[in-house]
Amino acid sequence: MADDGPVISEVVTVRTFGELESVGPVHLPCSVEGMAPAEFWFRLFILPPQARYTAMGLGMPETVEGEGPLVRISSACVWSHIFGSLHCDCGAQLEMAKAEIAREGAGLLIYCHDQHGKGIGLRNHFLVYAEGQRRGHELVVDAYEQLGFKEDYRSYDDVARILGHLRIGRCRLLTNNPARVRALESSGIAVTRVPLVVKMTPLNESELRVKKARLGHLIETLEDSEGATRQGTGSEIEVGAKCGQPIREARHA
Ligand SMILES: [Zn+2]
Repeated sequence: MADDGPVISEVVTVRTFGELESVGPVHLPCSVEGMAPAEFWFRLFILPPQARYTAMGLGMPETVEGEGPLVRISSACVWSHIFGSLHCDCGAQLEMAKAEIAREGAGLLIYCHDQHGKGIGLRNHFLVYAEGQRRGHELVVDAYEQLGFKEDYRSYDDVARILGHLRIGRCRLLTNNPARVRALESSGIAVTRVPLVVKMTPLNESELRVKKARLGHLIETLEDSEGATRQGTGSEIEVGAKCGQPIREARHA
């Protein structure tokens, strides 16, 4: 008998919509910080030439009314997500996003496997850090600059396509990065930003300060959440909003 390989149901497991391939769903019980485990569904999306995204969802996000479901976009960070590096806040943000989604009982996390180091790729991410540390750069953005890399190469066009495929036209985006908000809005998705406030520690402090001061991230840290009401250039922020509560910025009004 000829071996034709495994039989894949085109109806259930693999669907191709134009150039977007969707594989799944797979259901897996997952740990959730501070809560009982929850069963999330997973769906792998592949877009040419070789961009891979895992959607991790709970419930039916597309049915959430009002401002839409909680959505988190997570760029791959091998050091933090796999090996537990405490240098950045990627791992803590992933866990917080999972917990927020679990608390609501519905939501979506899209993991961008090929967006290491703000889109420079895994090899270059290693290269930038290794060379930056060798040269004694205190800030990794200085290493990016000196090695000729832009600060950010990421595009969110694929993510917008995936959200469209999942019938999500509006969402409450868990992010401190205004560029992500703008990118999804320019793709026609209505976005309400929800901050992800990670506790500053001596180990992640320099990374968080770089994100805030050099990359424009809106990070309401403990020290400036007490009395501050304004941050950046004219963006009104309800500083002091805690993770999970939407905050509004004047420029989205
Ligand atoms: Zn990281």
